[in-house]
Amino acid sequence: MGGIGLLPLWQQQVIRKLLPSTRWQNLQGGPFTNAARAKTGHARSDCYVSWTRNCSTEASREHFVSETVLRLIGDEHVAVNGVPWLTRGETKALPIAGLVAAHILCKRHNEAMSCLDSIAGQLFAAVKSIYEDLGDFKSLSRKQQWLLFSGEELELWMLKTAFGLFHSGNVAKDRKRLRDTQEINPVLMQAFEGASIPSPCGMYVLADNRPEKVDQNQMDLASLSSDNSERMIGLRLRFWGVSLLILLDPMSTYNNAFLSEQAYRPDYLVFRNRSRSHTIVLTWPKKTVTLGVLFPIRPARGGK
Ligand SMILES: [Zn+2]
Repeated sequence: MGGIGLLPLWQQQVIRKLLPSTRWQNLQGGPFTNAARAKTGHARSDCYVSWTRNCSTEASREHFVSETVLRLIGDEHVAVNGVPWLTRGETKALPIAGLVAAHILCKRHNEAMSCLDSIAGQLFAAVKSIYEDLGDFKSLSRKQQWLLFSGEELELWMLKTAFGLFHSGNVAKDRKRLRDTQEINPVLMQAFEGASIPSPCGMYVLADNRPEKVDQNQMDLASLSSDNSERMIGLRLRFWGVSLLILLDPMSTYNNAFLSEQAYRPDYLVFRNRSRSHTIVLTWPKKTVTLGVLFPIRPARGGK
């Protein structure tokens, strides 16, 4: 585990100076705020947020993991694993254009949630550039970077990705689509309309133990099922050395030992090599504990 703990005071002071000058989009009312102004009264049966009765009549096709994120991994192809058509542990390069699911969101809801895709794209682009920069061990630079993101928006994107993967039949256990064998508790989808996500549900961040081994052109997806395998209760996504976990079922009991190894809604992600560090700051509403996760970046064995 390591690295989870309070950040030194000087870093907290830097954050305070940084905050007023940076853009922070507060998603009051959730991403459907605009869509909610004039409700359509329509519920498309193939839209997984049709309970809002605010669908358009048109269907949409969308990438079940945001295209902006997929494009960071590869220009034309990305390597994925954890999907039902691959055997356990198998990884395959797939064309981005083919990673599309129809009939999970109507056009209106798809467009209302697209702001989350661009936020996630920006975060993963930042992670990628930080790993590339700090992985350049010949650089003599000591310059630090501070980057600010809304933790709430990322959490909503993880939620969107989890529901999208489930409803499109793209998460599996033992090669069986969860959509066919399990349920998913829909209650957390109310967060898209501004409801708060109760602990222990929400987003966790974990540093990969062996980041130097990470395949840069790969995104790992793994679903979490309840003990009796009746419900999908979470999703883990790994990109470079960063693992994001979303827990999405308030009715489930989550293992405390498991939870204590993950940082719940961390404020700082600190990436550090031997000479310098870059920090991603995540903003959250009403927090009492300050948490940071440390991502050590070391030269690969044999040195670069
Ligand atoms: Zn809809």
